[in-house]
Amino acid sequence: MKAIVKPRPMPGLEFAEVSIPEPGQGEVLVKVRAAALCGTDIHIEEWSLWAQNANLKMPLIIGHECSGEVVALGTGVLGIEIGDHVASETHIPCGHCLQCQIGEQHICANLKIFGVHTDGCFAEYAVIPAICARKIPKNIPFQVGAVLEPLGTAFRTAAECNVYGKPVVVLGCGPIGLFAVGAAAMMGASKVIGIDISDFRLSGAKAMGATHVLDSSSDDVVKAVLDLTDGYGADSIIEASGHVGAIKTAFRYLRKGGRFGMIGLPTKPIELELGSDIVFKEAKVFGIHGRKMFETWRGMEEALASGKLNIAPVLTHEIPLESYAEGIKLAKSGQANKVILVP
Ligand code: ZN
Repeated sequence: MKAIVKPRPMPGLEFAEVSIPEPGQGEVLVKVRAAALCGTDIHIEEWSLWAQNANLKMPLIIGHECSGEVVALGTGVLGIEIGDHVASETHIPCGHCLQCQIGEQHICANLKIFGVHTDGCFAEYAVIPAICARKIPKNIPFQVGAVLEPLGTAFRTAAECNVYGKPVVVLGCGPIGLFAVGAAAMMGASKVIGIDISDFRLSGAKAMGATHVLDSSSDDVVKAVLDLTDGYGADSIIEASGHVGAIKTAFRYLRKGGRFGMIGLPTKPIELELGSDIVFKEAKVFGIHGRKMFETWRGMEEALASGKLNIAPVLTHEIPLESYAEGIKLAKSGQANKVILVP
């Protein structure tokens, strides 16, 4: 089968012919119908510092966001049948650590990531642990199924930010931020204020339901958010930029008692005034590492299948798997949101 492979620990990827894998115990074989490029894949391609420290097993078939059709079952798989449509949950839990025992599998102590620590889905077929092969309704198109993983991160953050009836800021309008805009709007936020420095991304935010957009390279975002919130600040901030300066500034327009959900990954430490930024403000600051398994999945599937959440504006490009290099170029250009690869 065709596959995109990271052959060795240096920059670059290769398009290769490899044999179709066989599902082992507790695994399913999926015919990949759509896969999505993510920042992680670009880190692996560039061989960034993150990738160098990610404990990759090479040669590695990369890619972790996908959906497809189950074509074979390993032994001991229950609840999934051949022909089912599935999407990949990328957090592979061990099943026996403390977090796994208390319903927090997504932050398992021995967490492995599909497509990073195991062969992934930029291929015609992929073996997925059955626990990570999430059965999805057949009326959800494969292109949408391929982005449920990043969508779930945004969807859960909006849910845990309790956005209903309140003004919310989404900081950073890349694909995850755009998904967060859509989720917050659907969940009934009174105002969704998207902040970015790219016109392309800000127009995406409007298409996803932002009521206001701010360009932080030219607008005074602190003043603008305070003006939009009667001087109190936003009830919630969904952080999807990973930008140190933007994050520090955001504490100035977070309402007292507000919630700050963190998704973005800054490349260096951030200095905060714990007193004014968090303690006196009673700010609730929390990290989100992916989706709750499987509460988040159920929520977004219901939202998508009912038509209440439409993510079409985020799916800007669809290209053949062979053209992955062009896809990476597109993703880096800032003129694409989600790039879908079709094997
Ligand atoms: Zn575990």
